Amino acid sequence: MATINDNYLKLPGSYLFAEIARRVAAFRKAHPEADIIRLGIGDVTQPLPMACIEAMHKAVDEMAHAETFHGYGPEQGYTFLTDAIIEHNYTQRGIQIDSDEIFVSDGSKSDCGNIQEIFGTNNKVAITDPVYPVYLDTNVMAGRTGTLKADGHFEGVTYLPCDASNNFAPELPKEHVDMIYLCCPNNPTGTTLSRQELTKWVNYARENQSVILFDAAYAAYITEDDVPRSIYEIEGAKEVAIEFRSFSKTAGFTGTRCGYTIIPKNVKGKAADGTLVEFNKLWNRRHTTKFNGTAYIVQRGAAAIYTEEGQQQVKKTIAYYMENARIIREGLQAAGITAYGGINAPYIWLKTPNDMPSWDFFDKLLADVNIVGTPGAGFGPCGEGYFRLTSFGDRENTLRAVERIKNQLHF
Ligand SMILES: *Cc1c(COP(=O)(O)O)cnc(C)c1O
Repeated sequence: MATINDNYLKLPGSYLFAEIARRVAAFRKAHPEADIIRLGIGDVTQPLPMACIEAMHKAVDEMAHAETFHGYGPEQGYTFLTDAIIEHNYTQRGIQIDSDEIFVSDGSKSDCGNIQEIFGTNNKVAITDPVYPVYLDTNVMAGRTGTLKADGHFEGVTYLPCDASNNFAPELPKEHVDMIYLCCPNNPTGTTLSRQELTKWVNYARENQSVILFDAAYAAYITEDDVPRSIYEIEGAKEVAIEFRSFSKTAGFTGTRCGYTIIPKNVKGKAADGTLVEFNKLWNRRHTTKFNGTAYIVQRGAAAIYTEEGQQQVKKTIAYYMENARIIREGLQAAGITAYGGINAPYIWLKTPNDMPSWDFFDKLLADVNIVGTPGAGFGPCGEGYFRLTSFGDRENTLRAVERIKNQLHF
């Protein structure tokens, strides 16, 4: 009989959002009249920028004629898109990226999840806690961890705790690690790493010959000057870091699908015979073997965000979400609740009052003020005692939710 990849059995069920849905459904059944407001949503809600819509309409029409039809494109992405990305996000910030160092994809969840395939299975993995679950789960599936322990940690993984006590900036690991996942701005905490903090990680990676896997899905939300938009703003990072970016949160592409990964040619790993090999070469081999390119129409839409109108439209939508973030953050403070994030990211990470467990706070928020959020414990053991609210809702509901928290939530 065929056997299975037993590593999959190490994973707990994807419990977080299913459990939230279950509790909300039960509450709705018991209180059909309740006017529930959702501030747990991790997806954008505003429509695509008009510049993208127009570019995609035009691309659809091109597909209708043999002379302008597009079949398979380059797996790494069309140069009209990669040139625009490099110019806008790198050259203009003083970073030199070559066109064969960028790989366009159908979104960065795939890239963040698949990247571990080009690393040896014996590598030691370090992951911040709490964080986006994709990094950990894909390494479990690949057999780079042991089993899940009773304390919520997987054996063989180096967790880097991030909470208020270290200002959400992880400390360097005491043991040697090979692969380091950093998510900045972070989902779920909404916090960032300063230039100085990131420099510490780049220096660690250079000294230890490790690779940093840097997820910058929320880079477009950064407002503070001291927070790097790209890890390559840090000296030496082009020798040790791979960067993931996405059009999803930047321009509303969660349902349209487009992202990209930067792998500088100087980022290298050791082969079994001791020779140094470029990760760029391996990823190119993988990408061209397992992926047949992002849709032409979608790449045309993505490229349109770099036009003048596209830039204005993207900035306007991000400003809308970030105004929601400000309303939530300040509302929580007015209610006497300590909150983090919401300045360089669309997430607000609050400390539950009286150290209430995350799930108890979830139930209280739902019962007392009919608001749905996300328990911090769902993002890792260090998320316990915290709770995530997001600014992806509409303005009216955000304002109503904050009024309820200020006036009707009592401890
Ligand atoms: C949303 C998100 C992504 C992007 O996913 P896509 O596949 O590009 O939609 C990546 N990383 C984090 C941390 C995210 O929250």
